[in-house]
Amino acid sequence: MRPEDLLHPRPEGLYCPVGDFHIDPVRPVARALITHGHADHARAGHKAVLATRRTLDIMALRYGADFAGTTQVAGRGTTQVNGVTVSFHPAGHVLGSAQIRVAAKGMSAVVTGDYKRGVDPTAEPYEPVTGDVFVTEATFGLPVFRHPDPRAEIARLLTSLDQFPERAHMVGVYALGKAQRVIRLIRDAGHDAPIYLHGALQKLCDYYQSEGIALGRLEPATADGDRARFAGRIVMAPPSAFAAKWAQRFPEPLICFASGWMQVRARARQRGVELPLVISDHCDWGELTATITELDPGEVWVTHGREEALVRWCALQGRAARPLNLVGYEDEAE
Ligand SMILES: [Zn+2]
Ligand SMILES: [Zn+2]
Repeated sequence: MRPEDLLHPRPEGLYCPVGDFHIDPVRPVARALITHGHADHARAGHKAVLATRRTLDIMALRYGADFAGTTQVAGRGTTQVNGVTVSFHPAGHVLGSAQIRVAAKGMSAVVTGDYKRGVDPTAEPYEPVTGDVFVTEATFGLPVFRHPDPRAEIARLLTSLDQFPERAHMVGVYALGKAQRVIRLIRDAGHDAPIYLHGALQKLCDYYQSEGIALGRLEPATADGDRARFAGRIVMAPPSAFAAKWAQRFPEPLICFASGWMQVRARARQRGVELPLVISDHCDWGELTATITELDPGEVWVTHGREEALVRWCALQGRAARPLNLVGYEDEAE
């Protein structure tokens, strides 16, 4: 069997013809295997969904309990789907995130979804798993991307808080994964004051806490009452909230944004970010290339839009590689 007979791209997403299922399809399909809960990977409306329990929980929180016709929990170990052996392995990206390994007729492939190698107590740690084909994301697939130690980024935030005690520090974070990771990093740095949350972050923070991820004291960032109480406090919100009037209710808001993209200074400026925090839930260039070297797969397939540099790097290493040219995966997670 050729690798293409096990998996190949279709307009709906990556398709396994032997098992008649899609992985992270961008349009509704009959049977979907989902790597993680970010909106560009996990969509509502599939007839049947197989995912980790936490990813199913997160999809239900975001889309409502009837987000799919039927659901099935992918536990530890293998599951058979129409004769294809399927297994889910932690990806280290967000809570519940998994790489999906598929194997049939002597051919195997690992689809990473999104993944990272750095330490993150709010996600199950990445587990190295290999196959004949390794399908890797390349969100930060350029040699220029090097993510600093996230603890150093949080130290910059806390230093600013000391320097400007009269200002509310507004930290832009995406709702799933980044918010909880940043809160946990702040707690691990010893900051135990209440952290104020925009309503859009509450449900997922509650879910993480219910799953045993300690986030400390979180309070709603409601407008009523004394605005001075937000001085010298951390207020967290989706980045879109800062473009709206919402941020102006806080005293002298100092806009921060926690994202791997904050390494690109022009992006920070564009968004009016005063304190960019380079914190990413994806591999940087060093981690992408080190992972490929470590796993040593027969072939590398690259997705997520920035494919060329990583494909070129593989070629220079004498590795078979090709871009997948899948569309529909955005940067929501970042
Ligand atoms: Zn992705
Ligand atoms: Zn993601």
